[in-house]
Amino acid sequence: MTDLERRQDRSPVPSGWDYAPAPEARDIVTLEDSYGLFIGGELVDPRSGEFFATLDPSTEEPLAEVAQAGKEDVDLAVKSARDAFENGWSDLAPAERAKYLFRIARILQERSREFAVLESLNGGKPIKESRDVDLPLSAAHFFYYAGWADKLEYAFPNRQPRPVGVAGQIIPWNFPLLMLAWKVAPALAAGNTVVLKPAETTPLSALLFADVLRQAELPPGVVNIITGDGSTGAEIVKHEDVDKIAFTGSTEVGKAIQRELAGTGKKLTLELGGKAANIIFDDAALDQAVEGIVNGIYFNQGHVCCAGSRLLVQESIYEPVIEKLKRRLTTLRVGDPLDKNTDVGAINSKMQLEKIQELVASGKEEGAEIYQPPCRLPEKGYWFVPTVFTNVAQSYRVAQEEIFGPVLSVLTFRTPDEAVEKANNTPYGLSAGVWTEKGSRILSMAQKLKAGVIWANTYNRFDPTSPFGGYKESGFGREGGLHGLEPYLQFEQSEARGG
Ligand code: NDP
Repeated sequence: MTDLERRQDRSPVPSGWDYAPAPEARDIVTLEDSYGLFIGGELVDPRSGEFFATLDPSTEEPLAEVAQAGKEDVDLAVKSARDAFENGWSDLAPAERAKYLFRIARILQERSREFAVLESLNGGKPIKESRDVDLPLSAAHFFYYAGWADKLEYAFPNRQPRPVGVAGQIIPWNFPLLMLAWKVAPALAAGNTVVLKPAETTPLSALLFADVLRQAELPPGVVNIITGDGSTGAEIVKHEDVDKIAFTGSTEVGKAIQRELAGTGKKLTLELGGKAANIIFDDAALDQAVEGIVNGIYFNQGHVCCAGSRLLVQESIYEPVIEKLKRRLTTLRVGDPLDKNTDVGAINSKMQLEKIQELVASGKEEGAEIYQPPCRLPEKGYWFVPTVFTNVAQSYRVAQEEIFGPVLSVLTFRTPDEAVEKANNTPYGLSAGVWTEKGSRILSMAQKLKAGVIWANTYNRFDPTSPFGGYKESGFGREGGLHGLEPYLQFEQSEARGG
């Protein structure tokens, strides 16, 4: 008998009826045993001579060896980017730059299944998410910024936009290709060259992207991709010939980067952590809101900086919301990331799993009530059951700290003012969600919430035309939209306007 039958609840899943496995074929991806560093348009052996293994987090099987770039390798990559900047790329006609970006976008579309499978293989995310979210959005970012490349004068009238130079870009493991697209597309559109470091646990899609660059015949050195751990990132940050740093990752590392760059004149944008409030008012459409809650926190195993990890429910609807939510949780399928039916995949790394386990243990210890649906987890790999904490006080660590896993903390409120006060009671300010029928309430909440992005009656919606970024300890600078071009440009006031 299945777990669902034993519970005899009102689950919408017919008892005794299982999904047949629907695995996506992985043979579309060809992996090398070992990868070098993509510098000057070629994969080269690292001067450091060091390599490390990258895994499939759902099985713990090694997938390939990748290079650990050291100081000398970073220096080579920056020199290659500088050379490409000064000898061609920054002087190229903007419409020519656009041509390369359009090519990259189209190749990403053509090779999207290959990328989606690799992204799920190396990162643990469900194939339906890499296929339907990561890949279309990555291509869309290149298309969008390709459109701006020859229109910068119109985008920033009378400001004479010029590229900044060499951009150092450091990205995390939760959306490896998408974060690459968020950073590389605007940098190139604005005429800069790039040294990019993917995260230690998810380097493979960035290395496959190097192949896309070759296919698009992007001039050598315009984009250099170097793999490695945090020390490689730190070398990029310190390098004196890098003009701009774009970082997405933890608040702790973001602060260290900001300290390192203080006084150097280098441009910096930081997209850091979050602890978003997803606020449900009593007039909201509850079934839709429950879908929004689930999407808000269990999408990508909760490895999302803008995840709706704090649920604020109006007290009068607390019971039906929690009942519906628990029932919905029993229908989430946790397992093989390459299975098209999977809703929640593998946790990205052992280290992240331990962090989630530690914070969940603290929630139990501090007195919160835990709910986890019956769920069989695979024996190998890194997994965590979708979890809800109720009876959470604002002071608990699960209500304050970024868990970055499939763990939701539920709090209640009585009035809109109390909701705003609780939502803003965090050092972060990246995103928030508001669920209500009243348009006026949405607008009034949006004015009072200290968050860079606020979704109304939806959650985790992204579009390349829309800027994304935070307040407070969630960082500064925006990615996406016209705003996302500004950090990659310097401006001079037009003489025509009298400076
Ligand atoms: P990090 O901030 O350490 O990683 C982000 C990127 O920065 C990675 O490429 C990392 O390399 C690199 N890096 C690490 N140290 C340095 C350094 N001193 N200088 C420059 N670059 C550096 O995040 P973690 O992967 O350690 O995750 C820790 C926590 O951070 C998570 O639990 C989560 O709470 C939060 N996080 C938030 C993200 C967001 O999108 N806002 C994304 C990822 C994590 P490497 O991978 O080799 O360590």
